[in-house]
Amino acid sequence: MLETETRSAALWSQAQRLMPGGVNSPVRAFRAVGGDPIFVARAAGAFVWDEDDRRYIDYVGAWGPMILGHAHPQVVETVQEAASRGLAYGAPTLAENQLATMIREAMPALELVRLVNSGTEAVMSAVRLARAFTGRAKVIKFAGCYHGHSDALLVKAGSGVATLSLPDSPGIPTAVAADTISLPFNDLQAVLSAFTTYPDEIAAVILEPVIGNAGVIPPVPDYLPQLREICDRHGALLIFDEVMTGFRIARGGAQALFAVKPDLTCLAKIIGGGVPCGAYGGRADIMALVAPSGPVYQAGTMSGNPLATAAGIATLRALAEPGVYARLDRVAKRLADGLMAIAAAVGVPLHVQRVGSMLTAFFTDQTVIDWQTAKKCDTAAFAIFHRGMRERGIYLPPSQFEAWFVSLAHFEPEVDATLEAANGALGELARQY
Ligand SMILES: *Cc1c(COP(=O)(O)O)cnc(C)c1O
Repeated sequence: MLETETRSAALWSQAQRLMPGGVNSPVRAFRAVGGDPIFVARAAGAFVWDEDDRRYIDYVGAWGPMILGHAHPQVVETVQEAASRGLAYGAPTLAENQLATMIREAMPALELVRLVNSGTEAVMSAVRLARAFTGRAKVIKFAGCYHGHSDALLVKAGSGVATLSLPDSPGIPTAVAADTISLPFNDLQAVLSAFTTYPDEIAAVILEPVIGNAGVIPPVPDYLPQLREICDRHGALLIFDEVMTGFRIARGGAQALFAVKPDLTCLAKIIGGGVPCGAYGGRADIMALVAPSGPVYQAGTMSGNPLATAAGIATLRALAEPGVYARLDRVAKRLADGLMAIAAAVGVPLHVQRVGSMLTAFFTDQTVIDWQTAKKCDTAAFAIFHRGMRERGIYLPPSQFEAWFVSLAHFEPEVDATLEAANGALGELARQY
């Protein structure tokens, strides 16, 4: 290593010789904002440290799971204790019962739960189940919603794909994508038209009830109840992909916050507390079709793994403390309000959209309601802002079309330090307009 070269830079050049694009998941490569990615050495609370021991206030939060903050002592201890009793058994465990019970208590719509290893797996399995239950093939999704990287759902799929300008992915047979109908979000008329065009062919409507993967886009009033009604009228299932929103915007997710009960729900991220874990669940009559109780095959060597269930149980237990979501909301509001005030003062068009502890600062002067309006954002301005924040020790998701996550380890001093950095970064940006 050269004297002048940082450890991070050396590791990054090595990574690019080892892995496609140097990473194991595309958005980590920072292509949308430029510069080398931050090579993380360790994390604690609201902070991550890079390989050169620079400290950052973190709003990536491992892309959602770290709602308690990094290396939460109770979670770490629970995982260590579980590890000492063996890493995997491939047999039923008490911890699986406990995690399933905790999920069902928070989200009563999940009458039966199946644990898997990722959000992608949860959604892929839920869609297979919906098709089996209804005997129909087509699925409606919405542009800007990301549901993992399985073939049928990688159509107009939001942040990661958009950031790299891949409208779809090569390698997906047209026949597989042909049964996926992609519609604009927050547009009920589009949904009604699709049901008119394909009566009795649509198995399910799947959505992020609050979009996180195009940046944070809440549903317009009455959108979710209307989707529920349309699905019921046409015999289609309503699937909420709450991989990001579950245990994030409320303990019971979007379905609790907006009081709409989906037929099936997909979870991951927070329920694994930072260890790979996903889940899908819902109405008992539908879930009864899943093998071995029914004919719809779905399995997993590592599903319900002891480390994942340990981290998940410890995380969900901490989230059951009273006042937790009110505190997240208060701290996130301070950040969102502060950003808007600074942007207004320095004259940068900025629209901060927030639901609970997830938010996005969109570089636009209009409300973002769907993928079409999200795309109008000034991504070049975001890239400059991102670099400015990074230089000032703030680690933001490296794309305009991602959610920032506030954790329970973020307190007012962290938010105020972030706002001070934003004052500098937005001021710098304003001078470049
Ligand atoms: C992250 C995410 C997924 C994919 O989950 P993985 O664990 O990365 O496979 C699916 N849906 C939503 C809404 C997500 O945010």
